[in-house]
Amino acid sequence: MVDSVACYERDGTIVYVNPRTCEIFGRSRDALEGQVLWLVFPEARDNAFHEVFEHVARTGETRRFEHLYPPWGRWYDNHIYLADERVWVIARDITHEKQAAQRLDILANASRVFASVASEARTGFEVIARHVAELIGDMCSIRLLSLDRKVFDPPLGIWDVQPSYREMLQGNVSIGASEAIGPMVVESGKPFIMSSIDPRAVAERIAPSPRRDLVEKLGIHSVMVVPLKAEGGVVGIMSVCRRLSGTRAPYADADLKLLEELADRAALVVSQWRTLGRVEDARLQLATITDALPVLVSLVGRDLRYRFVNAMYERWFGRRREDIIGKSLEEVMGRDAFLAVEKQVQPALAGERAQFEVRVPYAVAGPRHIRSTNTPYYLEGRIEGYIALVQDITVEKAHEAQLQRWEQLFQHAGWGVAMTEPITHTLIAVNPAFARMHGYGVEELRGRPLADCVAPESRAELAQHTHATHADGHHQYETIHLRKDGSRFPCLTEASAFRDDAGKVIYYAANFQDITERKRYEAELRAAIATRDEFLSIASHELRTPLTALDLQLDGLQRAFERASVTEDRAKFARKVAMAARQADRLGSLIDGLLNVSRLEGRSFPLELESFDLVGLVQEVVQRFDAEAERSGSAVQLHVPEQAPGRWDRSRLDQALTNLLSNALKYGGGRPIEIRVVDAGERVAVRVRDQGIGIAREDRERVLGRFERAVSSSHYGGLGLGLYITNEIAQAHGGSIEIESEPGQGATFTLSLPRHTPEKERP
Ligand code: ADP
Repeated sequence: MVDSVACYERDGTIVYVNPRTCEIFGRSRDALEGQVLWLVFPEARDNAFHEVFEHVARTGETRRFEHLYPPWGRWYDNHIYLADERVWVIARDITHEKQAAQRLDILANASRVFASVASEARTGFEVIARHVAELIGDMCSIRLLSLDRKVFDPPLGIWDVQPSYREMLQGNVSIGASEAIGPMVVESGKPFIMSSIDPRAVAERIAPSPRRDLVEKLGIHSVMVVPLKAEGGVVGIMSVCRRLSGTRAPYADADLKLLEELADRAALVVSQWRTLGRVEDARLQLATITDALPVLVSLVGRDLRYRFVNAMYERWFGRRREDIIGKSLEEVMGRDAFLAVEKQVQPALAGERAQFEVRVPYAVAGPRHIRSTNTPYYLEGRIEGYIALVQDITVEKAHEAQLQRWEQLFQHAGWGVAMTEPITHTLIAVNPAFARMHGYGVEELRGRPLADCVAPESRAELAQHTHATHADGHHQYETIHLRKDGSRFPCLTEASAFRDDAGKVIYYAANFQDITERKRYEAELRAAIATRDEFLSIASHELRTPLTALDLQLDGLQRAFERASVTEDRAKFARKVAMAARQADRLGSLIDGLLNVSRLEGRSFPLELESFDLVGLVQEVVQRFDAEAERSGSAVQLHVPEQAPGRWDRSRLDQALTNLLSNALKYGGGRPIEIRVVDAGERVAVRVRDQGIGIAREDRERVLGRFERAVSSSHYGGLGLGLYITNEIAQAHGGSIEIESEPGQGATFTLSLPRHTPEKERP
C-alpha cells in the first residue's frame, strides 16, 4: 500500500497532500490544502503526533515513531522531518501488522493464563476479555451455560473499554449479545456475526425499563458471537460488541479467527474444570462412604506406600490422614507389623485377589487379629497397587477360641450334657457321653424328644422338673432313664434354663449322671449299718446274759461273805468284791449304751409312758450314785420342789438322768455338783451343774452326736454315746437338752420336758 505523504507549514497549514493522504483523511485535496491541520482535525491536537510535529518544526530534528490514532483506531509509522522550512510527514498505516502482533500476544497470554486452571483462571478470563475488547471491539464477554443449559451463568469474564460502561455491565449480567443471539449460537454451534444494528430499533422491542435504557445507552452497533465447545457440545459463548460511537471497519477474518481460537482455549479450561469437579465429587463420595465403614480401607501403591486411606486409619494409627498418605506400610504400622503382612500382600500385586487372617503386632494399635482382603488395582491395564480392606477380628477370634474350648469340654466331658428346645423339649445337642450312656449315637438323638431317654414311668415327673427349672432357673432331680436297648438306670440331672435379654427361655441345658454305682453304694451302706446294728443288738444281748449271771454271783458272794465270821482279811476281801461288782455295773451300762444305739438306729424306740413324780426319780438316781460321788469327792446338792408330777417313760428318764449325773461326776473335777428340779407349769426341767473342765463353744453342739467326744480317751474313758442317748430320749419326749458352759468353769446341762408327753411324738 502506498504511504501517505503530506507537507505542512511550521504552523500546520497544509501545503500538499498525496491521494493516499486524502483517502485516510476522508477529504478531497481541495478541501485540505491551505487549511490548518489542527483546525480540520481538532482532536489531533491532543495527540502524541502533534507533540512530535511541533518538536520537529521547532528544532529541525528528524523523528520517526509509531503511534495509535484513537479516533480512527489505527496505527501509523510516521517519519517527520524538516526540509525547506516545511514539515514533511510520511506515514504508513501499520494497523494490520500491529493487530496481528497483538493477536499473537493475546493468544500467547491466553495460553499462559489458561495453563493454570486453578481458581485464578476466573480473573484470567477477565484479562482475556479485556485484551479482546481493546483489540477488536469495545466490549467482550465470556459466559457459560448453566448446568441445566437453560440460562447463562454470570459472565466468567467481561470488559468494556469505557470505564463507565464497565461498571454498568458488571451489575447487569444479562446485557449484551447473550440475550437474543446466545441461544442461537448454542443451538447451532456456529459463530454468528451481525453488523449495522440500530440500537434504537432494538430498544424499542423491549418494554420501558432500566434494562431498555441501558441497551439504548450502550448503543451496540455490531456483534460477533462464537460458541465455547467442550465435551461434545456447546458449554458457553464468547462475544464481542462494537458501539455506534466507535468508527470501526467490519469484523475481519482475523478477528473471527482470534475469537474462535480463544473460545477453544476457554472451552478446554472449562472442560478441565468440570472434569476436576467430577473427580473431586467422586473423591468426596469415596471418602464419605469409606469413612463410614468400620473397617480399614486403603489403596496401596506398588511401592507399598499408601495412596488413599479412610478415617479408620487415623483412629488406629493415631495420626492424620495427610501424615499417612505417601508413607510406606512399614513407617505407618511399624516394622514387626510390616514383617507380619509383607508376604501376604504379594499375591494382590501379582494380580490375585487374596484374603488372609493374621495376627499383627501393630506399633501403635497394639497386637490385633485382622482379616484382610486385598484386590489388585489396575490402571490402564497395569497393576498399580492393591485395595486393602482390613477388619479387626481380635474379639471374634477370642470368642472363637473360647467357643472351641467349650466345645472340647462338651465333647470330652465324662458326664452327659444335652440341650433341649424350650417348647418341644427335643434334643438340640447332646455330647458323646450323653449318647453313650443311653446307648445311642450322637446323631441318632438330635431332634428326638428328651422323653425318649426317660423310663415311661418317670415321664410324668419330667414335666414337673421342667417346670421347676423354668421357675427357679436351676433344678436338680433324680429320674429313671431308659437306654436304647430298653434297660434302665437311675440318673441325677442338673438342669438350667438359658434366657435371652427379654427373659424368654431359649434353651435348657442339663448334665446327666448315671448314679447306678452311687445307688449301689448307698444300698450297701444301708445294709452294712443294718448289719452292724443287728450285731450290736445281738452282741449286747449276748453280753448281757453272762453279765447278769456274774452280777448274781457277785451279789450272792457279797451276802454270803457278810454273814461269814470275822477274819482279818474280810474288809480287804469285801472291798475287792465291791470293786468287781462296780466293774460289772460299768460293763453293764456300756452294754446298755450299745444296745440303745442299735435300738435308736433301728427307730425302734417306743416310749412306755406312765404318770409319776420326777422329783422322786431324781432323788432315786442321786441316791444310787452316793458311793461314786463319795469316791469322786464331789458333793451332790439337791434343790427340788415338793414334787413334779408328769407323764413320761420312767426307765428312759432314769437313763438320761444317770448319764448326766455320771458325766458331772466324771468331768466335775471333784468339785460340788448341784441338781435342781424346776417345775414351771407346762414344762419341767432338771438342771445338772458341775464346776469341772467345761466344754468349748465349738464342741457344744457336737457332743450331742453319736460317738462324739470333746476329751482325749487317754484321760477320760467312754464311748461318746451318753449325751447322744440322753438327747434322743429328750426329743422322744418332745423335750430338749441345753448346754451352758465356760471351759474350765464347769458345765450346766438342762433336760427340759413337757409335763405331758404328747402320745403322737413317737408312735
Ligand atoms: P462320754 O462321756 O462317754 O465321752 P458322752 O456322750 O456322755 O460320752 O459325752 C460326750 C462328751 O461330752 C464327753 O466326751 C465330754 O467331752 C463332754 N462332756 C459331757 N459331759 C460333760 C461335762 N459335765 N463336763 C465337761 N464335758 C462333758
